[in-house]
Parts: sequence; structure tokens; C-alpha cells
Amino acid sequence: MAPRRGTVRTATVRGPAGDSAVAGVQQDKGSLADLARPVASAAGEQFANPESQAPNPNGATRIASMTDFTGKHGLVVGVANKRSLSWAIAQATASRGARLAITYQGRFEEHVNELSQGLSQPTLVLPCDVGSDEEIASVFTKIEQEFGGLDFLVHGAAFAPREELSAPFTNTTREGFRIALDISAYSLIALTRGAVPLMEKRGGGSVLTLSYLGSQRVFPNYNVMGVAKAALEATVRYLAADVGPRNVRVNAISAGPVKTLAAAGISGFSSILNVYRDRAPLRRNIETSEVGEAAAFLLGNAGRGITGEVLMVDAGFHITGM
Ligand code: NAD
Repeated sequence: MAPRRGTVRTATVRGPAGDSAVAGVQQDKGSLADLARPVASAAGEQFANPESQAPNPNGATRIASMTDFTGKHGLVVGVANKRSLSWAIAQATASRGARLAITYQGRFEEHVNELSQGLSQPTLVLPCDVGSDEEIASVFTKIEQEFGGLDFLVHGAAFAPREELSAPFTNTTREGFRIALDISAYSLIALTRGAVPLMEKRGGGSVLTLSYLGSQRVFPNYNVMGVAKAALEATVRYLAADVGPRNVRVNAISAGPVKTLAAAGISGFSSILNVYRDRAPLRRNIETSEVGEAAAFLLGNAGRGITGEVLMVDAGFHITGM
């Protein structure tokens, strides 16, 4: 039976059998012996100064501990299934000790409930349509009650009506444009506004969103999503400038193409995957776990000097000319 909405699940590490995404968590947990040397397990010390870290027995700085999330709480928006980029980020942070709230959009409740049970920390699973200010407010109320504050926010929600992602761009409708920009870009502002007061309770925090190179270059059928991603990346910079003085950082990862549910809505998406595989410097497509690892870097202590940035995780495709 699916757990009730808004309840805290005491998840086990077992997870759905044969689920490769969960297998990834367990693999990560195997390397936790190296990672779990907390720099600052107390929530208030989450942005500890690395100068104060003692060297390990080999004299090397404890680089791994900079992506330790012990004692941290995060909100992850945008998990639909095990292929979601947000799920990879949830795994990467939870396996390093973070406790998460994960939201779902209506029809994905069951998937998100099942996935959250594969995390090693009890997870708060909540409904949230990012087009609704009321649902966003309710998420932060519940997070405050349950966690008392927030250390990081992952924004991985995006949407444009399917017909906008196949028709000629000139045919973009006013309504399609409004929806794409509202759900995919404005929602970052609304969520950050809710998150910042909770992050201030922890002395600061980190916000991360997911973008795509279609913000700067033209890809067939990406259409209004490209415009939304351009707005999203500009939003990252304006938010970073606005909330930086409150010690909240805002960044984006611009990921290479990955076959996810959202990607399936873009006509001819497989040809984009093929072009990346053939032309990217690394001659391959990226894996979702690579987005997860980069996200852990940006969200955690290792990324403490970085804000307003768009980090390309695309096997280097963006540097190519032809
Ligand atoms: P996905 O389908 O797994 O995730 C998209 C998420 O957006 C889903 O969880 C969906 O529920 C959520 N969403 C859509 N409308 C919403 C609404 N009104 N309220 C709440 N949530 C809503 O696909 P993904 O590829 O993991 O997408 C995650 C992010 O990564 C998106 O911003 C996407 O543009 C971006 N991205 C994807 C790729 C790729 O190739 N897959 C590449 C670069 C960037």
C-alpha cells in the first residue's frame, strides 16, 4: 500500500529488487567509508572552513569530506522515476548522509514513494505542482515542521506542452510560452523564495537547477524550452546576486542529453543523443550519476565559493565547433 501523502517514511536500504538506480545507491554506500568523515556534522556548521580541517594520516586534505552531507537536509523537486536527473542528485546526496524531502507531481506519487524507500535516510515525500503557490507554501511549512531548516534545494522541474516541441518555432503559442516559462523558469524563483528563510536558519544554503545547452544554441524541436532555459539561466544569476548576501548560493548544471521522460517529449531526441556521442570530446553521452556527482560538488562544501554559475556536464560537447 502506498504511504499517505506528507508522511515521513522510514525507508530501508533494500529498495525495489533489481532496480539499477537503487543498486547505484548501494555502490555509493560502499565508498562511504572514505567519504563519511564529517567536517561539520552540526547543521549550523555546514559551510565549515576547510582550513580548519586536519590532514588525514597521509597528509592529504580531506577532499572527500567536502561532499559529506551528514546532518544536512535537502529538498529535491523533479523526480518522476529512476531515470530522472533529480533522482540521481537525490541518490548522490542521500548516500553521503543527507536527509531529503522529495516532491512529486500528481501522477508520479507511486514512483516517488517507491524510490524514496530505497534511500538510506527516512524521506519526507510531498505533493507539489510548482505552478501552485499554495502547494509550494505547504511544502515549506512541512519541511520547517519536520527538518526545522533547509540546507539545499534541487530544482529539476520543466515542462512545455508537447505540441510546442515539434511544430515550427514560429508557431509557438502564447499559452505554450507562458506555461513553459512558468513551470520551467519562474518556479525556481518561487521555490528559492520559500527556501531562503529556512536556509538562513542554517547559516546559508545552496540552490541548484538543471539546464540545457538549448538555452544558447538551437537544437531541432527544443523550441520554447530553449527560451525557458535561457530565462532559467538568467534567473540563476539574478537570484545568486539577490540571495548571496544571505549566504545562499544559486547555480545550474547544464546536462548533456539523457533519455528521460521529459526528453521523450522532444521530437527526434535520439538524433541529438547520437550527435553528442559522435562529436563530444569524450565520444559518449553522459550518465545521470555524473550529474548527481557534479551536483553533490556544487551543493556541498566543496562548491562554497561558486554561485551564479552554469556548470556544463555534457562530455564536453559545448566546446565543439563542428
Ligand atoms: P524528468 O521527466 O524525469 O523530470 C522532469 C520533472 O519535471 C518531472 O519529475 C515532472 O514531474 C516535473 N514537472 C513537470 N511539470 C511540473 C509541475 N507543474 N510541477 C512539478 N513538477 C513538474 O526528466 P529530466 O530529464 O530528469 O528533467 C529534469 C530537468 O533536467 C529538467 O529541467 C530538464 O529540462 C533538465 N535537463 C534534462 C536533460 C535531458 O536530456 N534529459 C538535459 C539537460 C537538462
